[in-house]
Amino acid sequence: MQSILPQALYPLALIEAAAGTHTVVTHGLIMAAYLVAGVLFLLSLGGLSSQESAKRGAVFGIAGMALAIVATYFLPQVGGSPLAIGMMVVGGSIGLVLAKRVEMTAMPQLVAILHSFVGLAAVLIGFASFLDTSHVVTGAERIVHTIEIYLGVLIGAVTFTGSIVAYGKLDGKIGSAALLLPGRHFWNLVIGLVCVALGVWFVGETSISAGIVPLLIMTFLACLFGVHMVMAIGGADMPVVISMLNSYSGWAASATGFMLSNDLLIITGALVGSSGAILSIIMCRAMNRRFLSVIMGGFGTTQSSGASSAAQDQGEVQPITPEETADLIRHSKSIVVVPGYGMAVSHAQHGVSELARRLRAAGKKFEFAIHPVAGRMPGHMNVLLAEAKVPYDIVLEMDEINDDLDEVDVVIVIGANDIVNPSALEEPDSPIAGMPVLEVWKAGTVIVSKRSMATGYAGVQNPLFFKENTRMLFGDAKESVEAVLAALGELGTKHPSKQAAKV
Ligand code: NDP
Repeated sequence: MQSILPQALYPLALIEAAAGTHTVVTHGLIMAAYLVAGVLFLLSLGGLSSQESAKRGAVFGIAGMALAIVATYFLPQVGGSPLAIGMMVVGGSIGLVLAKRVEMTAMPQLVAILHSFVGLAAVLIGFASFLDTSHVVTGAERIVHTIEIYLGVLIGAVTFTGSIVAYGKLDGKIGSAALLLPGRHFWNLVIGLVCVALGVWFVGETSISAGIVPLLIMTFLACLFGVHMVMAIGGADMPVVISMLNSYSGWAASATGFMLSNDLLIITGALVGSSGAILSIIMCRAMNRRFLSVIMGGFGTTQSSGASSAAQDQGEVQPITPEETADLIRHSKSIVVVPGYGMAVSHAQHGVSELARRLRAAGKKFEFAIHPVAGRMPGHMNVLLAEAKVPYDIVLEMDEINDDLDEVDVVIVIGANDIVNPSALEEPDSPIAGMPVLEVWKAGTVIVSKRSMATGYAGVQNPLFFKENTRMLFGDAKESVEAVLAALGELGTKHPSKQAAKV
């Protein structure tokens, strides 16, 4: 080959060969970096599966993502573009400021809105990929590519609008009650079938001007479906929606990876998609719900007004002061704290951690009972307690402690409501019927710290507050806990009193 090249072209050929080698080396390095990033993501997921290793898991995740971003920057399609740097600086700065500013209580909303960004990105990349004329494919490859685009835009659009509605519901901008339109299952089915027909039309079209029509109609319908799907889900079922949208955002990212032929995006999206799906199933089990029932907006479940226990005359509640609370726990051998969303709102976790320290130092048995859907996102309470340096070994899951609650002297419920509501077990027409709850009323005494008689997220009144052995500690949880600590003082390292407390 070289012998037939004119002398003058030798230097050019050498440069091309060098450039070719350089491209191969760069491509090899990028693929190696992607492989390492993929392994780091796996290690990250593994780490996040337990509290002890969660921090390490987060570090692996950050390292993997940093490596993935740097490697992607050197991809030929990105080609070290200054625009990409500019976008990363702007996007990264906005993300940093928002993440630093966001309150722990607003984390679920932040996660929901971030899911919507992933959905929107999938839609935009799908359209860009479809309109891109620089990369023409034919035959079977074209069919596969158009299916990738169609599915990516479909999942992305559902994730986009569904996550925006979830954001609104979590932020209190939209009511948490389910919007149950007449014939909603029929309309969902119609939208589904129309999307399949539009997909066949889209894949069959070879020109951009004709193909864009079914793509646009489907995008509109998918956006509508996302809104309808999440609007139809009631407050108590929202945890499943959060994890499900998390899963959808993963599949949307994976579809984007297929469109861009980016292996790491495919792997990462699949990891997020499948772990989100597993989390949804775990949440469904925790709430005794069928996954299909939840995502179809309560399909097959009993509808109710949720007013049953609220409507009944439940009698008077019995208040308790912080001083009386301190006295009660001073004379108790075993204490369990049930944290809920109100603990997050009031930032009471540090006071609660101090309470745990003092009572344990005094030789009392002190444990936390965590309901799987306590707070507003999976693992919400575990994160707060870890932040307040509560030892992991005294933080028990609902299944680990529920059967032993009848042996506990005092249960202190801090800002929790739905997760300790006996109507879930006793009232078949309650919106939370069938959801396993922490059966705190079995303990000697239950103290409930909350500000008023307001309902929890599911909007259901709580008969626990009216029970014989329940005392209401009214006020902001943080202030109440601090007042109890002040009244309790340092207990020293005495042995527990032989007298179990009972009101
Ligand atoms: P709830 O929302 O049922 O109850 C929280 C209680 O905290 C309220 O009754 C409120 O009463 C009280 N509260 C609020 N602020 C304060 C404060 N400053 N001091 C003291 N109390 C306060 O929370 P739970 O954790 O019991 O249950 C979680 C609910 O959220 C479930 O219905 C679950 O399905 C849902 N959900 C969970 C998600 C998850 O992934 N974990 C996601 C989305 C929804 P008051 O106003 O009287 O003080």
